[in-house]
Amino acid sequence: MSIENVLDNKTKLLLLDLRTDFQIEFEQKEIDYCEVFTKNRQATVYYNPKLIDNESIAHELLHIKLKRYDYVIGNHIYFSCLNHLKLQKIFNKFLCDYIGNCLDHYKMYPEYVEMGYSPEGFLTNGLDEKCSLLDIKSLNLSFLKTYKAKSIELYIGYLISIYADHVDNNYNEHLKFLREKDSDLFDIVSRFWDKWKVFDIKNIDAIYNSDLELADSFISDLVEWIKQKKIK
Ligand SMILES: [Zn+2]
Repeated sequence: MSIENVLDNKTKLLLLDLRTDFQIEFEQKEIDYCEVFTKNRQATVYYNPKLIDNESIAHELLHIKLKRYDYVIGNHIYFSCLNHLKLQKIFNKFLCDYIGNCLDHYKMYPEYVEMGYSPEGFLTNGLDEKCSLLDIKSLNLSFLKTYKAKSIELYIGYLISIYADHVDNNYNEHLKFLREKDSDLFDIVSRFWDKWKVFDIKNIDAIYNSDLELADSFISDLVEWIKQKKIK
């Protein structure tokens, strides 16, 4: 049976609309989540027929929909940091993809809700806390004045996962500890996220509303932050 037949009307309509701009295919795969791979205007949604539900397909389709706006922040951060001696150790492909994903989630969640779906279906274990206090507490950014790239990567990932949470979990303690560990880094990531929250993805403009500039200002803050630090 084709996947289109198990989708509800809202998701079918979204799919129909997206197909005016994208070539979208569905492929079965042994995975315990859904995922989408988009290149140019071609997208493949991978799903497990045993675990399939409407919400997860809607979720992936909303990722495709955001491709219409052609912003490239996650990738831009990755390629910009590739030649930076210190930052390239932190901004690996995994972290940059993760950031890109979280940025997407923040912008697509309102439409997901508008389609009538529940917060718990937005992600696997959608209501859970997205980052544990214990993980934050046990994180040491530096040891004997040398910063650990892996710890900085985790720090940024934790903070972004908190900001991207679509559910109102209580993160007061988490944020307090993260700020105590490094208030400058905390402010840099927070500023980046705050800019993203108000960024108008539908009207990207090289001068007045640029996704690249948003990413670049994040990177230049980080370059400044890391300048005097020893990184391992
Ligand atoms: Zn997603």
